[in-house]
Amino acid sequence: MSKTDQLRKLPSVDEVLRLDLFAVSQRHSRQQLTDWVRQGVQVCRSRIINGESLDEANVIAQIIEFVRQQQAADAGQAIQHVINATGVILHTNLGRAPLAPLAIDRMIQAARYANVELDLASGRRSRRGQRVMKLLAQLTGAEDAVVVNNCAAATMLVLQSIASAREVIVSRGQLVEIGGGFRLPDVFRAAGVILREVGTTNRTYLSDYEAAVGDDTGAIIRVHHSNFRQTGFVTEPTIDELVAAQRPSEIPIIDDLGSGCMEDLSVYGLSEPTVTHSVRAGADLILFSGDKLFGGPQCGIVIGHARWIDRIRQSPMMRAMRVDKMTLAALEATTEIHLRGDAISELPVLRMLSADAETIRRRCEQLIERIGGPSGAEIVACDSQVGGGSVPGRLIKSFGLKFANSDAETLAVSLRSGLPAVQGRVTADSLLLDLRTVHDHELEPLATRLRDALAGGQDASA
Ligand SMILES: *Cc1c(COP(=O)(O)O)cnc(C)c1O
Repeated sequence: MSKTDQLRKLPSVDEVLRLDLFAVSQRHSRQQLTDWVRQGVQVCRSRIINGESLDEANVIAQIIEFVRQQQAADAGQAIQHVINATGVILHTNLGRAPLAPLAIDRMIQAARYANVELDLASGRRSRRGQRVMKLLAQLTGAEDAVVVNNCAAATMLVLQSIASAREVIVSRGQLVEIGGGFRLPDVFRAAGVILREVGTTNRTYLSDYEAAVGDDTGAIIRVHHSNFRQTGFVTEPTIDELVAAQRPSEIPIIDDLGSGCMEDLSVYGLSEPTVTHSVRAGADLILFSGDKLFGGPQCGIVIGHARWIDRIRQSPMMRAMRVDKMTLAALEATTEIHLRGDAISELPVLRMLSADAETIRRRCEQLIERIGGPSGAEIVACDSQVGGGSVPGRLIKSFGLKFANSDAETLAVSLRSGLPAVQGRVTADSLLLDLRTVHDHELEPLATRLRDALAGGQDASA
């Protein structure tokens, strides 16, 4: 058949749709399928023009295959569970802290009708999230608490409601970019406060803060370094020292902690400032994320002295930044776990962080056993990370499986595209699965995915 004949014989979009082969897809709209068929026809047209010979049956088969691929790619983009074998515990691209089963249960309950603003005892309206705020205050020893969408929102809200149009004093060593373009100088501007930098990049003294305090001062803020470390000729006042700074009593000290660490992690070789330390030191307002070391849902938690929290609660921005009922439910459950003293054993983030390397090495052996047969997997020592801008640069000894025999990129792609998706770490020449961040109940599905992916890889190279 000549090129022209082949092109003339290309089916119309309607003809393909009428084949009714697309009854298979209930998930996609007619409009979406029509678009894909149109693109599929176009692909065939290009192939013919480029000299490929396609008869009618071939054309239909290719269009259907094209549509199937689009459907699969689209399904893969839906938000879904991913097995995290990267060894990065707070992986921002994977949604940071995975929740405790109790928090997941409460979240599912809250997704239906739930008593978010109803006191079931009296039948009257209650303040939204009242119990969570009370529990957070109990847990941290602070007078009161408010919760907003994330710690970035908390920073904006606090600055805007406490120090609007006034100066906020901050060390030059703490003018950080948190990530995703959240840069402190820009945040100050957007919140309508005036940035008053003191000290130098590496050294700021208490006297620098004290010298900057004046009639225009609205607050002093300390920002935790979070995602970078300074070493060498470095000084900055501790929160205890900052609280002791000579200043009028109406100037609050704000402590932006970021990570929200509730436990002393030094036994695990990690040093991260704790929330309770800041409370005891006497910081007026303390901010941290719900989904970093606190181990809960994404939110920004503000705790501190009642007079400042009241002010924040009355801000018109509060309503714009408030969290939904499912977040409140998950946060409530997570806070209960902290209060009971079960955080290390029940919160996935802390369980993963505190697991010793030997436990993880055994998990590697179990996985190899479950894969069964020759997989080319080798147990290797590796380093996990806390991630999510917490405890920067600190590596935790771990173990993982290395697949040196297979093409790393092919295997990684294959593991990502399937259910459940698996995200590993591609190193120079091989794929590494760090099992610190893989839960025991994920071993079986992970083994199944690996068996399939390794078999597929052999087919491709045969
Ligand atoms: C992570 C972090 C934030 C931002 O928190 P999000 O909850 O991601 O908005 C703000 N400040 C510090 C110090 C942080 O570490």
